[in-house]
Amino acid sequence: MGSPPHVAVVAFPFSSHAAKLLMVARALATAAPSATFSFISTAASLARLPAAAPSNLRYVEAPSGGAFDEVGIPAWRRMELFVEAAEAGGLRQALEAARAAAGGAAVSCVVGDTFMSMAGDAGVPWVAVLTGGPCALLAQVSEDAIRKDMGDHVAPSRGDEPLTSHPGLGMYRVRDLPFDMMHPVGGGGGGGGDGANMNRVITTIIRRVARRVPRYATAVALNAFPGLYPQDVSAALSDALPSALLIGPYHLLPGAAAPSPDDDDPHGCLAWLARRGAGTVAYVCFGTVAALPPDELRELASGLEASGAPFLWSLPEAAWPLLPPGFLKATDDDDSSRPRLVVPWAPQGAVLRHQAVGAFVTHSGWGSVVEGMAGGVPMACRPFFGDQMMNARDVARLWCFGTAFDHDTPMTRDGVAAAVVALLKGEEGARMRARARELQSRTLEAFGPDGGSVNNFRKFVDIVCADRA
Ligand code: UDP
Repeated sequence: MGSPPHVAVVAFPFSSHAAKLLMVARALATAAPSATFSFISTAASLARLPAAAPSNLRYVEAPSGGAFDEVGIPAWRRMELFVEAAEAGGLRQALEAARAAAGGAAVSCVVGDTFMSMAGDAGVPWVAVLTGGPCALLAQVSEDAIRKDMGDHVAPSRGDEPLTSHPGLGMYRVRDLPFDMMHPVGGGGGGGGDGANMNRVITTIIRRVARRVPRYATAVALNAFPGLYPQDVSAALSDALPSALLIGPYHLLPGAAAPSPDDDDPHGCLAWLARRGAGTVAYVCFGTVAALPPDELRELASGLEASGAPFLWSLPEAAWPLLPPGFLKATDDDDSSRPRLVVPWAPQGAVLRHQAVGAFVTHSGWGSVVEGMAGGVPMACRPFFGDQMMNARDVARLWCFGTAFDHDTPMTRDGVAAAVVALLKGEEGARMRARARELQSRTLEAFGPDGGSVNNFRKFVDIVCADRA
């Protein structure tokens, strides 16, 4: 028997990736108290995370020196520089730094974000963690077959064609795919400039993920629970990713939550929610990357007001000046007939579990989808890019606990108001609310005694902590 495992958990240091990997790292460290866990990310990314815990989990700064940590450089370029540096030896240096920080204990396994697919060449087993939607990865793995079937450039008029000849993808349309097939190569999806560049960088990263994960990952964790997908989709997922383990939603894994959750609510969202009636509040949030164009942001703001529902909106402060005049003045007024709270950050997992929240207006990032499901909250999805269109389709058509706006058409005031009112009240909403509650109990069952995610997580811990001496 060798020495206790030393596991390097390697984060992708942009958007919400590191926070999600930290949930898995905390759960692993809780389940394997005799193992050491080094959580590796850049200085800037670690600074945004809560203090490391439990005690066998420590943060290790990835050696810098690249321009990827510098402010003033566009996000897409920082991401590109970071990946280039990690590919060109940066990851190996980071693993060396982890070894030094652990008193010379060699790294026995790398648990890495799928976006860190260079971990497949690190010389130790790579256990990958997917933070995005599982079916989007399935589509990415099937990209060559889809292109062979449909051609490289699909006319926009064929955007609604379902992908029925591709196993597990029959319920998605060409326009839902995470890669753009309807515009000439190099264009589309971002409208030029930073958006197009971000699209290009992410596409390159994801193509590598789709090639490397099935080939080099010892196992891949998916942020979903067993039984969530219908049989044909599950079968296609296990064909494409035979080593996949469904262990999610990650935020429900024992030990995954931040040690002091109150620190996560600096703007008093939970206290504000405590003063509202059950199922009356619309919660609005578009994740950590997506940004609405100014006109659409104002339509959303007026639509929320027009819905007549109290709302809690997590919106980056940089966007506040774009809101209609007087909009923020009505903030958090208990006597107001239209209570609202606009904050730069909300403790989303806890918000979505709060009984006051009855509707979620979201960009349908995968984290938001599973957190909404775990909270039993019906959703109105406004997808932007990447996996979000497929996720929105899952919500509206596969699991039927919400509605989806078209990602090519801006939301309007009336559309927003109608969507919010439909989710909170009325007959159609009643069906979606019932589906949301049913999905919530299935999610919680996966974490009960003998639950599917709990059982798979045990296997996951065994793989990560296997004695490899
Ligand atoms: N999040 C949060 N509070 C906020 C905004 C975001 O807690 O005010 C968290 C949210 O709970 C989720 C993550 O950030 O875990 C966003 O992930 P998602 O996959 O939905 O979207 P992304 O940011 O990756 O586009």
